[in-house]
Amino acid sequence: MTIYSNLVTHYPELQSLKDYRPILWLNPNYGMTTPQQFSLSDIEAAQQRLRRFSSYIQTVFPETSEADGLIESPLMEIPNMQSALEHHFHTAIPGSLFLKCDHALPISGSIKARGGIYEVLKFAETIAQQKGGLSLEDDYSILSSPYYQQLFSQYTIAVGSTGNLGLSIGIMSAKLGFNVNVHMSNEAREWKKARLRSLGVNVIEHTSDYQVAVANGRKAAADDPTCHFVDDEGSTDLFLGYSVAALRLKTQLDAQNIKVDATHPLFVYLPCGVGGGPGGVAYGLKTVFGEHVHCLFAEPTHAPCMTLGMITKLHDQIVVTDIGIDGKTSADGLAVSRPSKLVGEVMMPILLGCATVTDDMMYKYLYLLNKNEHIQVEPSATAGFAGIIPTLQQSQQFNFENATHIVWSTGGNMVPATDMSEYIQHGANLMSH
Ligand SMILES: *Cc1c(COP(=O)(O)O)cnc(C)c1O
Repeated sequence: MTIYSNLVTHYPELQSLKDYRPILWLNPNYGMTTPQQFSLSDIEAAQQRLRRFSSYIQTVFPETSEADGLIESPLMEIPNMQSALEHHFHTAIPGSLFLKCDHALPISGSIKARGGIYEVLKFAETIAQQKGGLSLEDDYSILSSPYYQQLFSQYTIAVGSTGNLGLSIGIMSAKLGFNVNVHMSNEAREWKKARLRSLGVNVIEHTSDYQVAVANGRKAAADDPTCHFVDDEGSTDLFLGYSVAALRLKTQLDAQNIKVDATHPLFVYLPCGVGGGPGGVAYGLKTVFGEHVHCLFAEPTHAPCMTLGMITKLHDQIVVTDIGIDGKTSADGLAVSRPSKLVGEVMMPILLGCATVTDDMMYKYLYLLNKNEHIQVEPSATAGFAGIIPTLQQSQQFNFENATHIVWSTGGNMVPATDMSEYIQHGANLMSH
């Protein structure tokens, strides 16, 4: 444990992390510089690309027709959950509480329907332009024709995943006509694998963790020039696909007359695995709302890879097991032991902090959300709730009176009913103890 004893001298908060005690780490580099890796025009270009595909999406996924082929989720105020949390923690929560319902995103029922689908569409567009004569002015619904299906069938898309990214990449790629190889880590739920196989996706099961699944996927793809590997540990396309959420959220806040300014700060709590999803969203939010939005990540106490990487500034050069943390959590979407190499550094000046949360608390939030708001999500999707109260208590530089708190609910719609009732029952049991 020499790595650990050296590090804990410099970063005393690692002691709590190592002991699996929930913490809120406030980032000392917050606001030090402005983000510059990408610009608003990169995010807008990604948004434009999704618009070009909207007629195609609407054709092949009719459930998106109400939103004109955009893959978007509602922003819902959840006052009953707010009261339930106040009651449970004997603490007032000033401001109003909203849920950004990515658990209800069309097509794959998780936040991965943003970045994952975007990257597949971008690859499809490139192939269709270079080899199939597609032009930017075309109505992209022609991409559902046998001509393009046949073209795409000459290519393969590969990805490594704990479940939801595989689901989203697999569903979208199979629909376009690509061959798909999804490398699943040991956490992946059975129903996710079964669902993909039913669509003709090639699911490769690994008995190892997420990182090894990704490495295997990357290696298999490297030998094949017709194979595009979706690299969850460093893809810019994934990141920009997620960031479009910020432009969409701005429209939703405007429509609900919710201000974001000096007296109305916005706090956004995002569950974090490898970091691409929450990182892309946070980057977009900072670009769109500037200094009045404050983003926090939430991670399981047993897999706090981004928290560890940011505290130590070692990012992807450190794994949770390096300090004796086991990486085992039932929040399968967050079961990642090494953070993205892209995201940690980009987040340095952008992220207010990171909260960690126990598996038991995630199940309790899941239970409370179902009981008080009749909303069903998967365990990972509740992690953001853990950020609210520690933030109120520890960041007293903010005036929370007119704050808007948004918990990003990242997955759940596709969970089979029997699994969902087990989650809720488990939460109920924990509540009564
Ligand atoms: C993937 C996922 C996340 C986190 O996204 P990362 O890009 O891995 O950080 C959060 N919640 C759910 C349900 C997910 O599937």
